[in-house]
Amino acid sequence: MAEYIVGIDVGGTTTKFGILTTTGENIGKWKIHTHTENDGKNICSHIKSSIQEYCRENQIPKSKLAGVGVGVPGFVEEGSGMVNNAVNIGWKDYPLQSTLEELLDLPVFINNDANLAAAGEYWQGAAKMETSTLCITLGTGVGGGVILNGDVVTGPSGTAGEIGHFLVVPHGRICTCGREGCLEEYVASKGLRRSLLDHLRNPAESTQLDKSSEAIDIFKAAEEGDRLANRIVNEATYYLAYVLANTVVLFNPEKIIIGGGMSAAKETLLQPLVAHFKRFVLTEADQHLSFGFAQLGNDAGIYGASWLAAKRLGYIDD
Ligand SMILES: [Zn+2]
Repeated sequence: MAEYIVGIDVGGTTTKFGILTTTGENIGKWKIHTHTENDGKNICSHIKSSIQEYCRENQIPKSKLAGVGVGVPGFVEEGSGMVNNAVNIGWKDYPLQSTLEELLDLPVFINNDANLAAAGEYWQGAAKMETSTLCITLGTGVGGGVILNGDVVTGPSGTAGEIGHFLVVPHGRICTCGREGCLEEYVASKGLRRSLLDHLRNPAESTQLDKSSEAIDIFKAAEEGDRLANRIVNEATYYLAYVLANTVVLFNPEKIIIGGGMSAAKETLLQPLVAHFKRFVLTEADQHLSFGFAQLGNDAGIYGASWLAAKRLGYIDD
């Protein structure tokens, strides 16, 4: 009788695994290096041998495994099981679902990693029981995931929830997607660095920051009252609040969850963000809404991937 799900979070440097029960209890987790050489062609066979090895060592018979969920950083078509483009992995038009199903002889379900981080927080983390949730991941870039009526929203090309690519500055900074002025070029750690370098080019005030300062240094300096750091944080949270205020009108979520490395800045980030947000938001869209920080940290992806498989296999009610 099957009772476990394997949740996999494929990242550019590390692939994380979790074995979870169909009700969301994590009974084991581990990780391996992601070998992205040869356009990531060996990743699936590494996934197979790693699962086999873990199950052998922990005496988990294959008959106990019901299915596998996989999160991928890129545009993923859940319907066709194809990865359209995952730049950091090397997969382009890659049939991930069928490749893994053949290797593992188990049902496999795939989705975008930020969507599944949102699903993880919805299933077992900060947004438990909140059936409409927006989860944003502030790291190098900005990831977004939308949970609507208890399911993840993906769309036929897998671009739903990609709020990092909302346009905020017409003809602004060039983004990795090829367009100009995307949100993540202003608010993620790379965006904060770009703002810092812009300001340092024409220094109008003394600051404890320099060219080598990272996003976390900018938040720390802002907390200590550095004026330039505060100006950069203010600008970033202004753009993010602008996007969030527009996004909540679209589907009226109950919760906005903030995760990713930059969420470590806590109140230094949240306080100006919420202040800008309150000025921008439609009052009615804010009535039942609250902000919170992600609770599952780096495990959100494996929880969300397991949720996906458990949900699609019918273990989780609608
Ligand atoms: Zn973009």
